[in-house]
Amino acid sequence: MEQTLSIIKPDAVKKNVIGEIVKRFESNGLKIKAMKMIKMSQKDAEGFYYVHRERPFYKSLAEFMSSGPVVVIVLEGKDAIKKNRDLMGATDPKKADKGTIRADFADNIEQNAVHGSDSVESAKFEIPFFFSSMEMVN
Ligand code: ATP
Ligand code: MG
Repeated sequence: MEQTLSIIKPDAVKKNVIGEIVKRFESNGLKIKAMKMIKMSQKDAEGFYYVHRERPFYKSLAEFMSSGPVVVIVLEGKDAIKKNRDLMGATDPKKADKGTIRADFADNIEQNAVHGSDSVESAKFEIPFFFSSMEMVN
């Protein structure tokens, strides 16, 4: 069993597709271990995406991620990290496979509907960034 962090980003929350996205996780065998809606500050978002601090889109990404509420979710399942990345599709929705979350709900390479941890190490940083052990009740 593996855990991964998913974020339903502000663009997808605004589009009212939280349920549609959560349904894809559940119907593909990923279990919701913890979930909440929050609004990050610019500083929170910069902290979360600190690995990207040298990238040209860093400030703009943090601005976008703090522009409205997001839903943060801990997903659990066999190969959860890869399974979630497969369901998400490529970073750029124009390149995302048909039927993936980003192909169906994302607007562009920045406002791309969802985040997913990309490795066990990332998940180990990202899950406790948002959730305390008391919130992992399921
Ligand atoms: P995420 O980490 O959000 O799951 P990812 O792993 O597919 O996405 P990363 O390369 O880690 O992609 O980039 C993190 C986020 O930064 C992307 O999801 C997207 O919102 C934004 N981003 C990536 N590349 C660009 C770009 N060229 N221009 C603008 N924003 C970008
Ligand atoms: Mg990433």
